[in-house]
Amino acid sequence: MKKALQAYYTTLFLILFSCSLFAVADDEINFVEMDHSIYLDPWQSYQQLMDLQVAAQSYDELTYLWWLLRKAQTENLIYFYDDFNRSVEQASNLVTHQTPLAIQARLSLFQGLINRRQGEYSRSQELLSKSLLQAKEANLSSLYVFGKQELAYTKTLTEIFETSMVDIQEAYVEAFALKDQFLIASINETYGAIYGYLNDYKKSIDYYQKAFEAYQTLNYPAHVAEAIYGLASTYRYWKKYDLAIEYFEKYGQQIDYTPNSNIKFFSAYGIGMTLAEKGDCDQAIPIIDQALKLKGVIDYNAELYKRKATCLIELGQLDKAEKSIFNAASIFANIPELMGTTWQLEVIKISSKLAYARGQYDVSYNMLEQYHEKYTNLLLVNASQRLHKVRARMEIERQELAQTLAEKRSQVTMLEKDKRQRFNSQERYFKFFVLGLALLVLLVILSQYRTNKKMHLLSTKDSLSGLFNRRYIFDYLHSALAGSHPDKIQLSIILIDIDDFKKINDTYGHPVGDDVIRQIAKLGQEVFRQDDIFGRIGGEEFLCVLPRTDIIKAKKIAERFLALINVSQLLKDNEQSVTVSIGIAAHSAQSVDANQLYINADQALYQAKHLGKNQICVF
Ligand code: GH3
Ligand code: MG
Ligand code: MG
Repeated sequence: MKKALQAYYTTLFLILFSCSLFAVADDEINFVEMDHSIYLDPWQSYQQLMDLQVAAQSYDELTYLWWLLRKAQTENLIYFYDDFNRSVEQASNLVTHQTPLAIQARLSLFQGLINRRQGEYSRSQELLSKSLLQAKEANLSSLYVFGKQELAYTKTLTEIFETSMVDIQEAYVEAFALKDQFLIASINETYGAIYGYLNDYKKSIDYYQKAFEAYQTLNYPAHVAEAIYGLASTYRYWKKYDLAIEYFEKYGQQIDYTPNSNIKFFSAYGIGMTLAEKGDCDQAIPIIDQALKLKGVIDYNAELYKRKATCLIELGQLDKAEKSIFNAASIFANIPELMGTTWQLEVIKISSKLAYARGQYDVSYNMLEQYHEKYTNLLLVNASQRLHKVRARMEIERQELAQTLAEKRSQVTMLEKDKRQRFNSQERYFKFFVLGLALLVLLVILSQYRTNKKMHLLSTKDSLSGLFNRRYIFDYLHSALAGSHPDKIQLSIILIDIDDFKKINDTYGHPVGDDVIRQIAKLGQEVFRQDDIFGRIGGEEFLCVLPRTDIIKAKKIAERFLALINVSQLLKDNEQSVTVSIGIAAHSAQSVDANQLYINADQALYQAKHLGKNQICVF
């Protein structure tokens, strides 16, 4: 056996050696250009690379590094995480100042992924940022955008939604410019994750679905699996449990592209968690235990322990539940970045449930109070311009809180009746408890009432176009610019006016004119991004506010809009085409307030009209 192996290696060596004069140069090119074939079939690529292991020893250092990097890349995609970590470490040891940035940037990216997987989120962010700098310096735009997307996702994991949104939007603009379907799909996948974490489930599903379809068209099995996993997770958070289980099972099938059985962890994780949340604790616990036995990811294990504890409390197995809570808490204690996040705070909530089940009502009550205080603080820290999204999340939390309290109240009432017969002295305590709960419910109702009132004030849509109306958009602009210094924020506005609209009305009548307004509003919604505020501010005049966007980016976006209108046939008879003129202005030292900014854009619009319409002018 050994001899046969030796003969095999000798032959391999001879073949490689005799071909080396011609082949090494080819291999080098192949290693550099390998992304697509790796994505197409990670397992086959891995085997091909492993077949070159002996030959690789005689490569020059640069080719060897490329080989190692590509091997690492395949190991990552087939979930051989230990091998991946080793390959990355081995490659890092070979890197010097002379190593090309193309290699260094990829390596930093991989190191970032390793740290993220280990829960070291701030280190991961440092490494991903380093990778971005290296890719930028080497002009590797695709790698740069890919890294940016990974950075945004990492920030999301520690709930820094504000900056992750900025990163992902920038990445999207750049990927769009590169017309790279794979990058756009990766970004859509990350959008799916971010919106999932923000509880905007519908958007999350839409984005994951887009990513899923693009990956399928590209025929990238590992990526298709990831997108399915995203869909499954969002359905789970959305409480659409049956769909979630269906997609987790689909994921279990899709991962056939790799023979690695550890990957089954994620499927078991998803199904176990979903069953538990659905209330099927009897079914959930064995699957959770099965997942915990597989080699998973550390912070996912914490989630499993938490969910298992909740189930065990429900089943009355309180000592086992305590053990499970302890396991979850120990994991969080070892990941400082996760301390204070919703995931960690949930441990307090579950501990409160356990105390309650044990009849330690005052401990339970204090813990619940502590949880809600910390959770509210967390929400306040995360409050942002995208208040409506966070508000949606608070809304759900409030509903859940009200429901929990109502349930608890009925439980307490029952217990109270029971105990009155035995312990008269405890009666007073229960009354106090019920009073406290009622007070909390009252507070919740009051704050919900306030929110509703506020929402009513804020629901200011234009009825014809369905866009934001003049008051909303100008209020938004005023508040966005209030007290801000031009260095602190970047903001541009795009002012749009339909050309010769009076003529359209005169020729086709007002109803057709109205329809043109509606169609232009729809086209605008296609072109402008999620966080741009687009509204109709007058008869045939529109305004779009683009936060965190400089004038160059704003102009690109306006050009896309103008081009889209030019190719769209908005009037049925095709005799007269509809065009628009556009004026753009950006927030700067000269235009610090909203009024001045609007005047500037209007001046640019006037110039566009003056120069013959159907064009863009920048102030
Ligand atoms: P220019 O492109 O050079 O700005 O010329 P214009 O005809 O587009 O602009 P003008 O301001 O002279 O006319 C705007 C017209 O838009 C006049 C008004 O009757 C019409 N209009 C305003 N609001 C509405 C609306 O809600 N629906 C319809 N159909 N027309 C409207
Ligand atoms: Mg007009
Ligand atoms: Mg006008």
